[in-house]
Amino acid sequence: MAKRTVKDLDVNGKKVIVRVDFNVPLKDGVILDDNRIQAALPTIKYLIDNNAKIVLMSHLGKVNHKDADALAKDLETKSLALVAARLNELVDTNVVFVPATRGEQLETAINALNEGEIVVVENTRFEAGETKNDADLAKYWASLGDLFVSDAFGTVHRSHASNYGIAQHLPSALGFLVENEVEMLNKAVYEAQRPVVAIIGGAKVSDKILVIENLLNTADKILIGGGMAYTFFKAQGKEIGNSLLEADRLDIAREILEKGKDKIVLPVDSIAANDFANPTEVVTVDDVPEGFLGLDIGPKSLALFKDELQGAKTVIWNGPMGVFENPTFAQGTIGICEIIANLPDVFSVIGGGDSASAAINNGFADDFTHISTGGGASLEFMEGKELPGIAIIQDK
Ligand code: ADP
Ligand code: MG
Repeated sequence: MAKRTVKDLDVNGKKVIVRVDFNVPLKDGVILDDNRIQAALPTIKYLIDNNAKIVLMSHLGKVNHKDADALAKDLETKSLALVAARLNELVDTNVVFVPATRGEQLETAINALNEGEIVVVENTRFEAGETKNDADLAKYWASLGDLFVSDAFGTVHRSHASNYGIAQHLPSALGFLVENEVEMLNKAVYEAQRPVVAIIGGAKVSDKILVIENLLNTADKILIGGGMAYTFFKAQGKEIGNSLLEADRLDIAREILEKGKDKIVLPVDSIAANDFANPTEVVTVDDVPEGFLGLDIGPKSLALFKDELQGAKTVIWNGPMGVFENPTFAQGTIGICEIIANLPDVFSVIGGGDSASAAINNGFADDFTHISTGGGASLEFMEGKELPGIAIIQDK
């Protein structure tokens, strides 16, 4: 990758628009965790230290422009005001929040910036044109600054006005967060040290077909768990009871098994229950009996996966091994975290929103080389797709 980074720009005295990812979890007016604000700090602090006039743009949640009542509610509850207030506590400079996405108040605030100061623009998705990459909107936003920095990894797989459109009009570079994500994911997928073991799980085969197909080219082994495993079992003619099945993906599952041959490793047992939402009977079984559904991989599978992971130099993980939201079915996912945590000299990366939060919430945040901040973006990276929000940034 030869994209320019923020260090390649002369930011001194310039108005620098930074697309950050301030899409934090909010509940009843409280920020539940400020990880995403923290993750944006290296680039923001660099720009403060190098005398830039900083304009931060981000979306927050989804905004419904189709229904007037829903829109009114979103405008009320999805403001970036709280985020700007939290940022103000984390940096040593003036942070001005502007409750608008265009117009005189915003322009005045930006023009009044001193070097090293920050304006936070209101939620970019309050503009209906944001997610459509509206050309006029992108042009207008670009007119507010001199330079553009892309530092929101969570949205680089989308071509929106604030991350793609602006970059079409201004000299641009990657921020430190996106630079690091690309470097880490590249090291996991395309410049990986062998042997490479990928662990793919999650609910559906259909979500992960492209990842598996791409990783079949680069990984030495692919361990499959989660709900998607049952479509593979069914393809092999096994009993799966009421487990998650995508009947329309049986052919592709067969194809993957054929193509993957020795590379693909399936679980050999399951933790199964009689009901998804309200399980009263939980059993450990090799094949899932009628009336039950498989909700986690079992202990024999964990032992098998542990064997397969020994000696790995690179581990890529996407998708939990079971319904980890319920502690009864979290052991497979936690077990994988423990196994990876204990591998010596391994480069380990999690890409995938749910697997990342499972690892973090169970205390394994420091046991991985890298946990991606962008679920959808890391998934598309692993699929081998070009990420438009990165592709549009100028080369060195
Ligand atoms: P990620 O976000 O890490 O890519 P996914 O979104 O693909 O992961 O999948 C996560 C979801 O898969 C979780 O909500 C989990 O409950 C579900 N899941 C995992 N195993 C099973 C299973 N055996 N049956 C049904 N759902 C499952
Ligand atoms: Mg997910």
